[in-house]
Amino acid sequence: MISVLPELVIVLADLAAAFLLLFGLKRMSSPVTAPSGIAYAGIGMVVAVIASFLYALSVAPEAKPHLLMNAGLAVAALAVGGGLAWRSGSKAPLTAMPQMVALLNGAGGGAAAAIAAMVLLGGVSAPAALVVTLAGALIGSISLSGSIIAWGKLDGLIKRPMRFPGQQIANGLAFILTLLSGGYIAFIVLSGAAPILAMPTLIAVFFGLALIFGVLMTLPIGGADMPVVISVYNAFTGLAVGLEGYSLQNPALMIAGMVVGAAGLMLTLLMAKAMNRSISNILFTNFGVTKTHKQSKIEGELKPTGAGDAAIFMRYAAEVIIVPGYGLAAARGQQKLYEFVKLLQAAGVVVKFAIHPVAGRMPGQMDVLLAEAGVPYDLIFQLEDINPEFETADVALVIGANDVVNPAARTDKSSPIWGMPILDADKAKQVYVIKRGEGKGYAGIVNALFYKDNCNMVYGDAQVVLTQMIEAVRGLSKTAA
Ligand code: NDP
Repeated sequence: MISVLPELVIVLADLAAAFLLLFGLKRMSSPVTAPSGIAYAGIGMVVAVIASFLYALSVAPEAKPHLLMNAGLAVAALAVGGGLAWRSGSKAPLTAMPQMVALLNGAGGGAAAAIAAMVLLGGVSAPAALVVTLAGALIGSISLSGSIIAWGKLDGLIKRPMRFPGQQIANGLAFILTLLSGGYIAFIVLSGAAPILAMPTLIAVFFGLALIFGVLMTLPIGGADMPVVISVYNAFTGLAVGLEGYSLQNPALMIAGMVVGAAGLMLTLLMAKAMNRSISNILFTNFGVTKTHKQSKIEGELKPTGAGDAAIFMRYAAEVIIVPGYGLAAARGQQKLYEFVKLLQAAGVVVKFAIHPVAGRMPGQMDVLLAEAGVPYDLIFQLEDINPEFETADVALVIGANDVVNPAARTDKSSPIWGMPILDADKAKQVYVIKRGEGKGYAGIVNALFYKDNCNMVYGDAQVVLTQMIEAVRGLSKTAA
């Protein structure tokens, strides 16, 4: 009874944790309920962690002398990991979230790989458990090293894609060697044959090769593919955690891992669609290799205008569609933007927000930004819903966005973003673009929209320009009064 009770409590706690994770994830599907969804999922995680300490009550007698030491190590790891995550989570600006997601995701993959290493070193003989553990080890290790490289790229530490001749062949060889070393471990364990190296060394070689493959696979990937890469690694981490959950026979890990894996896969599919890439193309053909691009000649000229003039034009428009992008987040201009929008609405202007699925630096970043400023969700429209409306809108106001409104995606076959669905801001009667200068977007290409006849540039930091726009419209009301 004494040993059954903790196990029953663990199973019930794991199920409660899994329910909280699923419920939290469901609530994350809308920006309105997302904050509470994150809290529910967090509580689920705390329940699962506390329940895992109950395993101490039913360990084998020979493991008992190590209990205190192991519990101490677990508490220390929780304090260090939790402390670091708390500190970086509360300090990191919204623009640095993708890097953080990449790092935390890598940590998840690393944790799954570490579990696999312990299981393998402890000796696992059942064929199914062995294969599952090895698969989790492989996927978790690739996710760990790949995510660290993705973090380096997003954080600007690795500036350019690193490519060399024959890279695809080298990557293929590294993958085959990794599989062979994993296969050899399985052969030795199952056949009982004598290994050519000591088992711990063999395991270290297998992990080393998997880590190297993760690095090699990610280094050549160009900037424009980064969002998909992070999401692929997210799916990898989920899968690795799920597999190790099976290996440990832990239902919370199995459910949480599979939920994360499935969510990552679905996000990958959505993002691939948003960038007009097929999943097989992303994963197996040109994985991340951005085509060499020769910038096409652009007709027209840049036409700067003042913030005040643009604001007053919009004040007398019937409909304005706002396209926010990375620059709005960088400028932290969302509060000023909503203040400006409310002034336009008070003057009878219909205002809508158009969100591109990969605007900003992570999926959903613009939704979170606007929700943070209190923009009602019914003003926010996704790409396919809003695109037909640009043709009839008086103004498209592009704020710190660039790639997501670049018409080259429709017209220039050699462009790195060719085929990516874009927001049709260029089709509005008048376009205003707020940006600081002639800086390029993430894909590093010049935007032909800025040179079009119907487009004017309003140069400056987005928050500063929006403040000037607010003052201009307020000044107008005062003059009228
Ligand atoms: P872009 O990166 O294309 O363009 C952002 C623009 O903002 C720049 O041209 C810059 O011009 C301007 N800018 C920067 N800071 C400020 C500021 N303080 N005030 C005003 N403007 C500013 O952004 P988009 O959102 O249009 O496109 C996202 C890109 O990022 C896509 O290529 C996407 O593939 C990629 N990506 C997306 C991820 C995602 O999941 N959402 C993740 C990783 C990459 P200037 O310097 O002249 O001011």
